[in-house]
Amino acid sequence: MAGKLGSSSRPLRVAIVGAGPSGFYAAGALLQQKDIHVSIDIFDRLPTPYGLVRYGVAPDHQKIKSVTKVYERTVRDSRVRYFGNVGLGEEISHDELKSHYDQIIYATGASSDKQLGIPGEDLQGSFSATEFVAWYNGHPDFTDRDFDLSVESVAIIGVGNVAMDVTRILAKSIDELAETDIADYALEKLRASRVKHIHVVARRGPAQAKFTNPEIKELGELAEADVIINPADLVLDPASRISLESDRTAARNLETMQALAERGATGKPRQIHFHFLRSPVELCGDTAVKSMRMEVNELHPTDTGYIACDGIGRFETLDVGLVFRSIGYRSVPIPGVAFYDKWGIIPNQKGRVTATHQGEVVPGEYVVGWAKRGPTGVIGTNKPDSVETVNLMLEDVATLTPVADATADPKAIVALLQKRGVDYFNFEDWLKLEAIEDERGRAQGRPRIKFTSEADMLAAIR
Ligand code: NAP
Repeated sequence: MAGKLGSSSRPLRVAIVGAGPSGFYAAGALLQQKDIHVSIDIFDRLPTPYGLVRYGVAPDHQKIKSVTKVYERTVRDSRVRYFGNVGLGEEISHDELKSHYDQIIYATGASSDKQLGIPGEDLQGSFSATEFVAWYNGHPDFTDRDFDLSVESVAIIGVGNVAMDVTRILAKSIDELAETDIADYALEKLRASRVKHIHVVARRGPAQAKFTNPEIKELGELAEADVIINPADLVLDPASRISLESDRTAARNLETMQALAERGATGKPRQIHFHFLRSPVELCGDTAVKSMRMEVNELHPTDTGYIACDGIGRFETLDVGLVFRSIGYRSVPIPGVAFYDKWGIIPNQKGRVTATHQGEVVPGEYVVGWAKRGPTGVIGTNKPDSVETVNLMLEDVATLTPVADATADPKAIVALLQKRGVDYFNFEDWLKLEAIEDERGRAQGRPRIKFTSEADMLAAIR
């Protein structure tokens, strides 16, 4: 071997699969430590980096997107290279990565969604929020989705921040949306939207809503939509009332909802209706959704302190032509990589990948972000999470079997991709594309106008 693993003559070669926040925080943590020389390649299956910041964060939340400046600094470090348009299990196999890198970090996020498991879920007009979010953000895999916005009533199932994002995008005026980097085709489709009623459906009560304070406040500030909440629905059961004493977010959420309930309708053209203690039990219609049947729930505290809900056998029907379930994301399995289907994650012990749930550690393989812990937390949550994994990686270096010097050579992976004819994007390519997007945006007073097809991205800079 050219030298000790982690020395300047034989740096630790690390592949990071996925160029979203968790991948960049892992790269950042590897660069910051002083003990081991590292050389990092970041791969993404799309030409563009930044994952959920580009394709998940709502287009009207531009401030959140400025975090990419931190990631840009990371990738500009001479020890880091970017390979966009290289998908694991597509352009490159798991075995190939294993033979070229001493350690691999999966930072592949959670690109799929959970299902309700109710009859009618596959009808036309029933979608996951994941699809809608990726569509309006211009994700190349979702540009062909056809959401029928000629309907008057839409239901959104779940009351997390994703549900709030989807609600806002459906409720905002075109003037509000036109200031954002929403995909052009989505802007046009929303311009013709006839949606008037947006029903937000929560299986539990207002004290259990998962959204955070700014998100519920924002709904009260929309130019063309009123929030309708029945004040009686905000009267809490004893257990929920007690739970607010130790949950400031929930207490503040409730205050905001009380203010919104008091204000009621002010005559704006759209209405956002909150329905608490309702579980969808069936989506009804012949081929397309026409209505949604819901069971009324009641809350009951459990021994763990969790406040659960149960149906009470009373049913209601809501006429809706479009349903978005916003009940959480799931990771998708990657060929060759362990997967725990029940939780929709890569099984792991604090970031060390295990062959099965609670099984043996797979040497040299690690996981960060939503693929590690499930779809929870905001972008910043990924930083300590990635640091935890990186600390274990560094600990493992002493006992690691390094890959052969020939394949560890940074030129080897480039040669492999070139031999295969993979048209990969390096970071300079991305910067060129970004400059074009920004320029097109400036001309229209928008943050950027996104390329939404991989072919167009490649054509624009080749
Ligand atoms: P989430 O916060 O976990 O919310 C999921 C919602 O779905 C909850 O209201 C949950 O209700 C409900 N739900 C789950 N299973 C259900 C079922 N079978 N039937 C009915 N309802 C069900 O998930 P998310 O909204 O997808 O967000 C994911 C993460 O991204 C969160 O940490 C979120 O804060 C973050 N995020 C942040 C921002 C932001 O900072 N602006 C924006 C978007 C996302 P229960 O509580 O009853 O389970």
